[in-house]
Amino acid sequence: MDRIVIVGAGQGGLQAAMSLRQDGFAGSITLIGGEAGLPYQRPPLSKAYLKTGDADALRLRPDTFFAKSDITLVSGVWVDRIDRVGKAVHAGDRSFAYDHLILATGTRNLRPTIPGLDRALDLRTLEDALRLRRVLDSPRRCAVIGGGFIGLEFAAVAAGLGHVVTVAEAAPRLMSRVVSPEMSDRFLTLHRDVGTTVHLESAVTQVTDTGIMLMDGTAIAADVTLLAAGVVPNTVLAQDAGLRVDNGIVVDDRLLTEDPAISALGDCAVFPDPTTGRPVRLESVQAATDHARLISRRLMGKSDDPYAAVPWFWSDQADAKLQIAGLATPQDEALTGDDGAVWRFAGDRLSAVETVNDARTHMQARKRLAGGPVDRTALVAARFDLLAV
Ligand code: FAD
Repeated sequence: MDRIVIVGAGQGGLQAAMSLRQDGFAGSITLIGGEAGLPYQRPPLSKAYLKTGDADALRLRPDTFFAKSDITLVSGVWVDRIDRVGKAVHAGDRSFAYDHLILATGTRNLRPTIPGLDRALDLRTLEDALRLRRVLDSPRRCAVIGGGFIGLEFAAVAAGLGHVVTVAEAAPRLMSRVVSPEMSDRFLTLHRDVGTTVHLESAVTQVTDTGIMLMDGTAIAADVTLLAAGVVPNTVLAQDAGLRVDNGIVVDDRLLTEDPAISALGDCAVFPDPTTGRPVRLESVQAATDHARLISRRLMGKSDDPYAAVPWFWSDQADAKLQIAGLATPQDEALTGDDGAVWRFAGDRLSAVETVNDARTHMQARKRLAGGPVDRTALVAARFDLLAV
């Protein structure tokens, strides 16, 4: 294998390029990204960057890195077609031949059909964050559509900067897809304590020149509206090339699509959860980077092990660092320990641990979950002491 092409120069695409070099790949690596400039990390876009405006701090590697590592970075170029028979990707009149192709195309904002939504701003790219920062340079009333991680992180920063913030969430609780009801309540209190108004069970029905309208007819006055209602995976390339797509590009437990010359990773990939086997798509730095490392090892013949990394995630909101180890479904049971950690259970099995400002328990949980299933009865008997089970 001489030529590896990676489409998507984000967190996972860059990691794949770096891992391939580290694992000894001597052929050509071409990393193609639609966004202009160097690959950067997105998590600070809704956190530190909104306060500091320091774009250089977001760069994952300096420009000298690419020449030094002999990685051809092609930025500002959107790939529009995969030719699986000819083994090449096309971007306008340019084409890039591959022996193996890695799809790392990430996600884009979900745009619900809300009249006037084009008045709302996004927070997905550095360009979006730059635009948001500019409008926050004087006191504003901000409305946020969506009480998930990104909307709430933005809300916390904006409230901290003295803006008047209102969050509208359609579900009955915050971050409902990913955290327990206990943790949703805790964060509801946190946001209300810093002065943010939160409306639950309040789908937004319209974005106007003066703010947003909620389904019960309430009008929220706002100068700035942020759309943070979730994302959709970028799968069009894969779908047009005849690859299987089902809420993401479908891959096996080695992150290979049904085409042995094409892998997919990160936010755009649906893979079998190593614990339950159910198809999952994760939107996290951890998944993107661990996927990339596994694909590199597989391509370099260093390991053919299936993907088995324990998922983990973090979110910074005001002075609270929420960390999640493992993967729970919304219906998993939740028990709160004496130290405030929330323990999630799928039947008798520990599925996830949610902590706030408690890095020690989070790290222990990641380590312990990597060691195999943790039994609920044993854990409760040990008063949630992970080192004892
Ligand atoms: P991305 O990093 O999104 O990269 C995909 C790239 O592919 C994009 O640059 C896109 O332009 C490019 N692309 C797509 N299609 C094409 C094409 N046809 N041709 C060329 N290029 C293409 N995760 C956490 O774990 N913790 C956090 O606190 C956290 N905070 C976040 C805050 C924000 C504001 C955002 C937006 C995300 C956050 N995330 C967080 C999620 C995390 O950034 C993603 O999970 C991670 O970036 C996924 O990496 P990826 O490589 O799969 O996709």
